[in-house]
Amino acid sequence: NILPERKPKWLRVKLPTGKKYTELRSLVDKYKLNTICTSGSCPNMGECWGEGTATFMILGNVCTRSCGFCGVKTGRPETVDWDEPEKVARSIKLMQIKHAVLTSVDRDDLKDMGSIMWEETVKAVRRMNPETTLETLIPDFQGIEKHIDRIIDVAPEVVSHNIETVRRLTREVRIQAKYDRSLGVLKYLKSQGQRRTKSGIMLGLGEEREEVIQTLHDLRDHDVDVVTIGQYLQPSKKHLPVKQFINPDQFKEYEEIGLELGFRHVESSALVRSSYKAQKHIN
Ligand code: SF4
Ligand code: SF4
Repeated sequence: NILPERKPKWLRVKLPTGKKYTELRSLVDKYKLNTICTSGSCPNMGECWGEGTATFMILGNVCTRSCGFCGVKTGRPETVDWDEPEKVARSIKLMQIKHAVLTSVDRDDLKDMGSIMWEETVKAVRRMNPETTLETLIPDFQGIEKHIDRIIDVAPEVVSHNIETVRRLTREVRIQAKYDRSLGVLKYLKSQGQRRTKSGIMLGLGEEREEVIQTLHDLRDHDVDVVTIGQYLQPSKKHLPVKQFINPDQFKEYEEIGLELGFRHVESSALVRSSYKAQKHIN
């Protein structure tokens, strides 16, 4: 587990550029719009925003869970803001987003686990932006079907839920989650007629190649259509350490294996994040 002192060259990112990026950046700063792209300093902003894709987080910015890889604050979340659906819808309109990804913190403190806010947000976005397509990157809702149904009912083009890591590391990486529960959520979505489902894996947490391949098999066996695979980077020293930088050839091999297994899309390279190239996953 000895890491090179500097990140390998394939992880060094250029600062985002482009006319569209610059325009959107000033809007986001001016109106204090809440995108994960900026709050997570995502390396893909130039590219995604240039293509009209951005990710918005709902239900506040404090999570009831404490996944070891995640930069979101843990604690007792604030009370929900019922104006949030309108705010998100307005941000999408202002930014002229063609494909929006919505995600949320986990709200295990709420009776409905936040599913009503999810439903209201999708509806508000649709009302104000009828042309915009949507991906909802949802929590596991503890596997409770009536909460998941609220998402299926409002029919986002893509519903995603990230498995994040291989079975063996799940306890360490996402302490309050369960590998099989996440697979169950993905399978349930599809069984209820959701057209596109998607999941994501981070690498570099100490998983073996065979375990990654097994995870790809597990996702396909649960009818997942799209998978994203990227390098884990430590948000701060308090988070899980990076055990390994995966090289580009290895990412390529996973992509080939994924396509052979029958995924419609596999995004596999170091800087891939779950919403990277998200627009193309509608098809
Ligand atoms: Fe935003 Fe996701 Fe693209 Fe990053 S990958 S810029 S978070 S849409
Ligand atoms: Fe982060 Fe999601 Fe885990 Fe909450 S549930 S800590 S937002 S990854």
